[in-house]
Amino acid sequence: MARRKLSDRTSRLRYNIDMDLAAPIQEVKGIGPKTAEVLHKAGIFTLRDLVYHLPRDYENFQQAQNIAELKPGKVTVKAKVEETTVRRMRRNLTIVEATLRDKTGAIKAVWFNQPYRAKQFDAGKDYYFSGTMALSYGRYQISNPSATLADDYDLKASTAKIQPVYPMRGSVKSQDFKKFIKTIQNNIALIPDMIPNYAGRADALLNVHFPETLDAAKAGREYLATEELFSLLLAAQLNREENQKLRTQAIRGDMEQLKDFIGGLPFKLTNAQRRATWEIIQDMEQEIPMNRLLQGDVGSGKTMVAALSCFVAAMSGLQAAIMAPTEVLATQHAESLSQLFKDRLSIALLTGSTKHKPELKKHIKNGEVDLVIGTHALITDDTEFKSLGLAIIDEQHRFGVAQRQKLLAKAHTMPHLLSMTATPIPRSLQLTIFGDLSVSILDELPAGRQPITTKIISPNSTKQMWQSIEQELAKKHQVYYICKKIDDKGASELSNVKKETQKIAHQFPNCNVAFLHGRMKPAEKDEIMTLFSKGQIDILVSTTVVEVGVNVPNATVMVIADADQYGLSQLHQLRGRVGRGSDASYCYLINSNSDAPTRRLREIERSQDGFYLAEADLKLRGPGELYGSLQHGALDLRIATITDTKLVHKADGLVKQFRRQGYNMLEYKELSNSVRKYQRLTTLN
Ligand code: ADP
Ligand code: MG
Repeated sequence: MARRKLSDRTSRLRYNIDMDLAAPIQEVKGIGPKTAEVLHKAGIFTLRDLVYHLPRDYENFQQAQNIAELKPGKVTVKAKVEETTVRRMRRNLTIVEATLRDKTGAIKAVWFNQPYRAKQFDAGKDYYFSGTMALSYGRYQISNPSATLADDYDLKASTAKIQPVYPMRGSVKSQDFKKFIKTIQNNIALIPDMIPNYAGRADALLNVHFPETLDAAKAGREYLATEELFSLLLAAQLNREENQKLRTQAIRGDMEQLKDFIGGLPFKLTNAQRRATWEIIQDMEQEIPMNRLLQGDVGSGKTMVAALSCFVAAMSGLQAAIMAPTEVLATQHAESLSQLFKDRLSIALLTGSTKHKPELKKHIKNGEVDLVIGTHALITDDTEFKSLGLAIIDEQHRFGVAQRQKLLAKAHTMPHLLSMTATPIPRSLQLTIFGDLSVSILDELPAGRQPITTKIISPNSTKQMWQSIEQELAKKHQVYYICKKIDDKGASELSNVKKETQKIAHQFPNCNVAFLHGRMKPAEKDEIMTLFSKGQIDILVSTTVVEVGVNVPNATVMVIADADQYGLSQLHQLRGRVGRGSDASYCYLINSNSDAPTRRLREIERSQDGFYLAEADLKLRGPGELYGSLQHGALDLRIATITDTKLVHKADGLVKQFRRQGYNMLEYKELSNSVRKYQRLTTLN
């Protein structure tokens, strides 16, 4: 009898009686092959993916406001639609505008690239609109609001007043997704907990998808986030235990020779550089492979620390490799280190456009090369080392786990690893997530650097900016001009490299103006960057490809068009391309979005301290952006954020309890799958 009841409750699934989370989504009624294909594109393959595809927001139309009383931000109105217009701006951009009116007033709604909106609305009927109201070209509008026929909603609302909104792409809409989830609501109620001793998963999922109150939804989300962090932290702990068992070759260089070399440098090392180098040398003397992160703000001189470490490795007869994320950067490292070491080290550059690769690889394989500097080209299958002892990854957050591991696999035993980054990771997270990671910090800039004068500029008052640029150009200094886009394709009015290059070339007929962007061939990019670093280009118009690491001390002006489009850390990185020599430098942030500068731009105008800005970023926007790459690229957290310390601690406690009580993970199939995924992701070596 009980059995029968169960199968009734689960009858919405085509044939499974229990809720098998690993089952394909096609088992849900209403998901045919076509829909499945669209969902696959969004990364949704199994029932587990389906129920863990959480709402991005909730609508509560019962709190609709009067149009006359709206304030900027998230708004919901109940209104009739009048005057719908469609404008086709360019090939790829359609704008639908409509006037929404209730008894108190009217406001514009604007939809980008949703042409069907033009025919969607019946005159005379009420709809709920929910979206963000903001100022655009001096008037308020609601951009891309969701729209629901009021009668439809009011009927449903008698049962559930809060409606989830799902993030969806392609032809499956949030509304459709809501139906699928509704179809399996009873099955969700039967989902067993994943973590022993942490009850409440089914309720959490129900509360997230079908909340009675927003608080219930929030609590459900926190449960699921903690569950996710549990897997991550457990994985980190298992990795830590594994790594402690590894052995490698100890590296011992001749310290007198090192001192001699440092004494011959054109400048004095900063104390921070000395300390970091010393920490690295001590790590490398051990047989347990080093796993160290070198954190230092832009311009703090990380490359020099890397160079000295490579020197020590070479002295002890082992090879070293430096992997950088872009061709431009790898080339620059190779050039500056060749100059630095002269014939003391034999250095090879290995990138996609390197000529005579097979020969070069032979030299690497038979040990004639001491130091290989390269891009991803370094980790192709046919690159072999004779004795790789030290692997260095510059701008490490730009690389995925698989790429890091491929580099490490080039050594016969696990090599020593030094990762470098300008993006600070909070201390507490280093400990919990990358538990066996040691950290060196360069908290000091080389002497003689001048602060960078940073100014927020409105697009209609750029005159002074151009005057000061002219003055800098007259001093033979160079200028970066950063645009958001390459050309005018796509749906936006943002600055683009092609157009600005033309304008600026016209404006400065006696200057060499060149452009750079990610769609150019590596060889072309290289050529431009080389010309720029030799001073043969005066103004370089570029996308953010120059963001990472490039070093041209003679460049003193950085203009960032559409600065409001970038995150704090990216702005800080871009600004860090200037102020690298002893001349005064300038950074202009053109704020094209609204009349008032955003908080973000004010922070960047105010401070030049990367660690301060990282904190500010955290406060302003939550961790998503700054740690974005760490989070999505490396850690693949979908619900939790690693900077939510409260939940991290909670999960940490659960992990301790789990291990103390001696659970055997293999008995929990879903859990061990999840932990295994994170084990792959949290290993830095
Ligand atoms: P980042 O930490 O951003 O990678 P770089 O390693 O590119 O910084 O160094 C920035 C510039 O500072 C380079 O031109 C480098 O030669 C110079 N530099 C490094 N260390 C010192 C120092 N101790 N004194 C003066 N200049 C230095
Ligand atoms: Mg660097």
